[in-house]
Amino acid sequence: MSDYKKPLPAVQPWSEEFWRAAKQHKLLIQECKECKSTIFYPRKFCPECWSSDLGWTEASGRAKIYSYTVMMDQVEPKFMKDLPYVLAFVDLEEGIRMMTRIVGCKPEEVNFDMDVEVTFEDITEEFSLPFFRPIEAKKN
Ligand code: ZN
Repeated sequence: MSDYKKPLPAVQPWSEEFWRAAKQHKLLIQECKECKSTIFYPRKFCPECWSSDLGWTEASGRAKIYSYTVMMDQVEPKFMKDLPYVLAFVDLEEGIRMMTRIVGCKPEEVNFDMDVEVTFEDITEEFSLPFFRPIEAKKN
């Protein structure tokens, strides 16, 4: 794992909690205490009402694929050996749209509206990234 050469997340003070939870394989989303908006990715201020009174809540981890692209080429050299992979926007049950990668199935098996769930990949000692996999895949 220590030979991980891809960019690591840039951790900001207001996203530390998110990455700490990800390391424990929990997906956190921010919630505005003023207007109750759910917020992703982590921010300092609520994008709806600009409140800084934000808290955290654990997401169910269940989502549907909103759109996706199969990356076949045209990626940076450091991502080459991952090809092909699926880059997707998924809609969490909590109403948040997240950009992520779909793992645990072949790119041709990915579909719009597919039910997926979060799964974490430990990329370094410090970081785990939230990816999504088809919910059916777990039963195999
Ligand atoms: Zn708000």
